Amino acid sequence: MTGPGPAEPLSALAATPRQLDFAAALDAAFDEKMQLLADEAESARVFPREVVEILGDRGVLGMKWDTAQQDSPQSHTDLYYLLAFAERLGRLGSAGVAAGMSLHDSSIAILRRFGRSEYLRRVAQDAIAGRTLLCIGATENGGGSDLQGAVSTAVAERGGYRLVGHKKFLSLSPVADVAILVVRVPGATVGGSGLSDLALFAVPIDRLELGPVYAKVGAHGFVTAPITVDTWLPAEHLIARPGTGMAALTWGISHERLSIAGQVLGACDSALGLTVARMKRREQFGTPLFAHQALRLRIADLDARVGVLRWALRGLALSGARLDARTAAAMKVTAARLGSEVLSECMHIFGGTGYLTEQSPLGQWWCDMKLARVGGGTDEVLWELVAAGLVPDYDSYDRLVHE
Ligand SMILES: Cc1cc2nc3c(=O)[nH]c(=O)nc-3n(C[C@H](O)[C@H](O)[C@H](O)COP(=O)(O)OP(=O)(O)OC[C@H]3O[C@@H](n4cnc5c(N)ncnc54)[C@H](O)[C@@H]3O)c2cc1C
Repeated sequence: MTGPGPAEPLSALAATPRQLDFAAALDAAFDEKMQLLADEAESARVFPREVVEILGDRGVLGMKWDTAQQDSPQSHTDLYYLLAFAERLGRLGSAGVAAGMSLHDSSIAILRRFGRSEYLRRVAQDAIAGRTLLCIGATENGGGSDLQGAVSTAVAERGGYRLVGHKKFLSLSPVADVAILVVRVPGATVGGSGLSDLALFAVPIDRLELGPVYAKVGAHGFVTAPITVDTWLPAEHLIARPGTGMAALTWGISHERLSIAGQVLGACDSALGLTVARMKRREQFGTPLFAHQALRLRIADLDARVGVLRWALRGLALSGARLDARTAAAMKVTAARLGSEVLSECMHIFGGTGYLTEQSPLGQWWCDMKLARVGGGTDEVLWELVAAGLVPDYDSYDRLVHE
C-alpha cells in the first residue's frame, strides 16, 4: 500500500493551502492541554467546555465552517474537514469529549443550513467561536429508533410557539447553552406524510428542566440527562418548520454519523498502536506475544480491515463528494461494528491487564465503543437506510438466471 503510514492522520494528507491551514490549526488545538482535558473528562465524568473554547479560539471550527460557506451557498459541509476533525477527536481516547464535540458540530451543521433568523445566525456564530455549546434532543420514551413515536409538541401561541414535552436523552444538557429540540406541530398542513409534522426549535437550556445525569457504562465525559420542556418561544427560534423538520434533522444526524465513523477510525488507530506495542514488549512462553502467530495474524486481519475503513473515508474526504444520508449511514454502521470488534480483540490481547481499568485504558475504550453502535441511530436503523437505496440489476438477472 502506498501513501502515508497507517497511523498518520488524514490531516497529514493536506494538499490545498486551506487544508494545510486546517491541519496546522488541528495540530495547535490537539496539544497536551487538550489531551489533559480529555483524560480528566473521563475520570471527573464531566464535559469540559474549555475544549469547545480551545477549538473556537484556535480557529478549527471557524475554518471548517467558513470553508463550507465558501464552497456552497447552501453551507454543504466539506467532508475533508469533517473527517480530519473526527479522526483527531477519535484519537483523544475520550469518547465523551469526542462525542460531545461532534454533537456540538453537528448542531452547527443544522443551524448553518437551516437557521435563517437573526437569532439563529447569532447562535451559530457563537457556537463556531466556541462561546456557545449546542446539543440535539430527538429521542423520547416512546420514540427512539422510530421518531414518529415522539409526542412533544409545539403549538402556535401569541406570535410564537409553546413547547411542551419530554426528551429521554439530551447529551451535554448539564453544560450546554442551547438545545435543538425535535417536536411535532399538531394540525400542521403537511401534505400527508406521517413524519413531516416534525419541526426543529433552538431552545435556551435555561428554559428546560433537567433531570438527574445518567450513570453510564462508558463515554463518561458525554454527560447525558433527561429534560422536560414547557415554555413559550418567539418564532425566531424555529429552525425548520413542519415539512422540513425531518430533512433538517437528517442533515444534522448524517453529519454526526460520518463524524462517528471518523472517530471510530481514530480510536481503532490508538487501540491497535497500543496493542502492537504490548505484543512486542510482553513475553510469554519465552517469546514476545507478537511472535505467536495466532495473535499476530489476528491483529494483522483487524489492521487490514481498519485500513479499508481508512481508505474508504479518505476516498470520501478527498473526492469532493457531498454529505448524503445513505453513505453516512453505511459508513457509520460498518465503522462502529468493526470498531467494536477491534476494541474487543485488543482488550483480549492485553489479557487480564485489559480488564483492569487502572492498568490499561482498553476496558474503558471497549465500553465506550459500544455507544457507536447505538448513538446517532442503531445498526438496524442504519441498515434500513442502506436497504432503502438498494437497486436490483434486472438486466443481469434476466441474462444470467434461467429457472
Ligand atoms: C449515552 C447516550 C447518549 C445519547 N444522547 C442522545 C442525545 O443527545 N440526543 C438524542 O436525541 N438521543 C440521544 N441518545 C439516544 C439514542 O440516539 C437512542 O438510544 C438510539 O437512537 C436508539 O433508540 P432507543 O434507545 O429508543 O432504542 P429502540 O428504538 O427502543 O431500539 C431497541 C433495539 O431495537 C432495535 N430496533 C428498533 N426498531 C427496529 C426495527 N424496525 N428493525 C430491527 N431492529 C429494530 C434497535 O436497533 C435496538 O437494537 C443517546 C443514547 C445514549 C445511550
